[in-house]
Amino acid sequence: MNVLPDSIQVFERGWLSSNNIMLLGRHDTAIIDTGYLSHAPQTLELVRHALHGRHLDQIINTHLHSDHCGGNAILQAHFGCKTSIPVAEAEKVRHWDVEALSFKATGQRCDRFTFDATIAPGDVLTLADMEWQALAAPGHDPHSLIFYCPQEKVLASADALWENGFGVIFPELDGKSGFAEERATLDLIAGLDVKVVIPGHGAPFTDVAGALARARSRLDYLAADPLRNAQNALKVLLKFLLLERQRIPLADVPVLLTSMPVFAAANTNFLKQSPEELGKWAVSQLVRGAAARVEGEYLLNE
Ligand SMILES: [Zn+2]
Repeated sequence: MNVLPDSIQVFERGWLSSNNIMLLGRHDTAIIDTGYLSHAPQTLELVRHALHGRHLDQIINTHLHSDHCGGNAILQAHFGCKTSIPVAEAEKVRHWDVEALSFKATGQRCDRFTFDATIAPGDVLTLADMEWQALAAPGHDPHSLIFYCPQEKVLASADALWENGFGVIFPELDGKSGFAEERATLDLIAGLDVKVVIPGHGAPFTDVAGALARARSRLDYLAADPLRNAQNALKVLLKFLLLERQRIPLADVPVLLTSMPVFAAANTNFLKQSPEELGKWAVSQLVRGAAARVEGEYLLNE
C-alpha cells in the first residue's frame, strides 16, 4: 500500500500468522509481531530479505498470542536482537508460565523466548526514525498494546481493530469483562488522527471510519448475547487448529476441543453442551462458511 512510507513494510501473513511490520530506520530496525511458530522459518526469510544485509535490532510484540510472537525465538536466535513485550506479561514470560500465557489454554504452540524490555501504555518509542505511542487496547486481550505514529498517521492496531471486526473477546469467555474494554478501545482509536491502519490480520486499510462502524456494530451484536462470542470463539479456535494441521480426523474434534481450557470455560459459562454436539456444530459452521470441507473421515482446511 503506497500510503505507507518506504521505511514501513508490512508482511501480510493471513490468519495462522499475524502480520509483521518491518520498521527500517536510518540507524535502527525493528519488527512488530512475528507470526505463528509453524511459519517461523518463513518469517526469518522475509525479515532477512527486507533487511538487505542489515541487522534486526528489536522485536516488539503488541500482545502475546501465539500468532503474534511465534517467530520471536527464531529471530532472537538468528539476530540476537532485543525484545520488548507488554509490561503486564513480563513475569509470565520470565518464568515461561504456560498456564498464565495463553498458549496452553488455546491448544496453540510457541517456542520459548526471552525479553529485554517492557512497554507500558503511554510509552513513546522511536522506531524507524519516527515516534510511536504505545496505547492500551484491552478487549480482545486485556494486556494488548497498539502503536500510533502521529507523524505518519499510522496505527498498528493488532487485533483490536480489523477492516471487518476484531479478534475474539477472550476475557468474556472466562466470565470477565471484555466488551466494555473493546468499546473503549474503539473510542480511543476514533479519537486518533489515522490515515492508515495496519491490522494484526488482513491488508492495511484507510477507511478507518467504516472499519470502526463495522466493529461497533459487531460489538453490539456480540454483547447483546455473550453466547454469540463463545460460539464465534469455538469456530475461530477450531479453524486455527485446522490452519495449523490442515486436516483433522472428525473423530478427534471433540477431544481437541476439550483439551483447550479456554473452551472448557466457554462451555461451562455459555455453550453448555457436550463436546460431541459442539464439535458437530463447529464443523458444520466452518463448512457452511466455506472455511473447511469434510472428506470421508476428515475435516480439511479450505
Ligand atoms: Zn490476538
